Amino acid sequence: MRESGHRLEAVHEAMREVVRPGVSTYEVCARGEEMIRILGGIPNFKNYNGFPAAVCVSVNDEVVHGIPDRKRILKEGDIVSLDAGLIYEGYHSDAARTIGVGRISAEAQRLIEVTEQCFYEGIRFAVYRAHLNQISRAIGEYAAAHGYGVVEELSGHGIGTRLHEPPQIPNFPQKGRGLLLVPGMTLAIEPMINEGDKAVTFSEEDGWTVRTADGSLSAHYENTVLITDGEPELLTCTAKRSGN
Ligand code: MG
Repeated sequence: MRESGHRLEAVHEAMREVVRPGVSTYEVCARGEEMIRILGGIPNFKNYNGFPAAVCVSVNDEVVHGIPDRKRILKEGDIVSLDAGLIYEGYHSDAARTIGVGRISAEAQRLIEVTEQCFYEGIRFAVYRAHLNQISRAIGEYAAAHGYGVVEELSGHGIGTRLHEPPQIPNFPQKGRGLLLVPGMTLAIEPMINEGDKAVTFSEEDGWTVRTADGSLSAHYENTVLITDGEPELLTCTAKRSGN
């Protein structure tokens, strides 16, 4: 899992380098798929339930599952969410980042930062003897405190020899305590946060793209996390955070 996660972190770094105004979402995905294969991985999103690409590239009001497109050109001020995963020696990893294209508005920057912080609020409880619903609550309450909408139709998940395994990890408070967390569990924790209302729509046109119902911006941040007997280990994010 660690080897898989470290490779995926490098894939994200490679994609980040190509994000700029004038580049198509297809090109960003192509760079990601190229890196996955260079590093000896297999893209696990490609053909997953028929998804046609290795990376989900979701722009602005697109929440998740955007399909890369040669005609979709990134422009200054957009925000773009890149969700990718790979299989390495049978083990899956899954991670997402939201990146500004060129200069972005202060509001968009704040949404990206709060979404990332939602993840970090959640993983304060990704520890031995905590319960799963503490993670969900921490994410949801932090987003709500900032006036943002938390997407409820999509969740984080267990991950291992399959991309999606139990348990589901919603990003808003749940009834009860949920699963007891123990060392060795690997979880993909992934807040999806809307600038406006929590409601989303599912595209009937392409069968995949999830958008905010009110057209507001949305951000996504995800890492594959290992529960240990101490601090959680971020398998897809070994770089130390700046400013924290
Ligand atoms: Mg995921």
